[in-house]
Amino acid sequence: MRKVNNYFILIFFLLFAYMGCSPTSDSATISIDRNQCIGCAKCIGVCKADAIRILSNKAVIDPSKCIKCGNCVEICPVNAIY
Ligand code: SF4
Ligand code: SF4
Repeated sequence: MRKVNNYFILIFFLLFAYMGCSPTSDSATISIDRNQCIGCAKCIGVCKADAIRILSNKAVIDPSKCIKCGNCVEICPVNAIY
């Protein structure tokens, strides 16, 4: 019985390890290339989490608020967000 339990623990460990390495992992962050940003603020209009501000004419993301929805990535006219 103890051996069976160890197999279950191993399977769960491998499953969580796989999820952590998948491309859709939550560990991915949204970033802005400040050299590309033209300060149009379109990204602010689509951010439901109120995570973007304009500082010195450039957009800045607050990672503690960002829910990684990707709306800003799609709307940015110069592909500054990735
Ligand atoms: S990914 Fe979504 S939540 Fe995060 S900054 Fe962009 S629009 Fe806002
Ligand atoms: S939409 Fe793009 S170019 Fe416009 S402010 Fe946001 S990051 Fe900068």
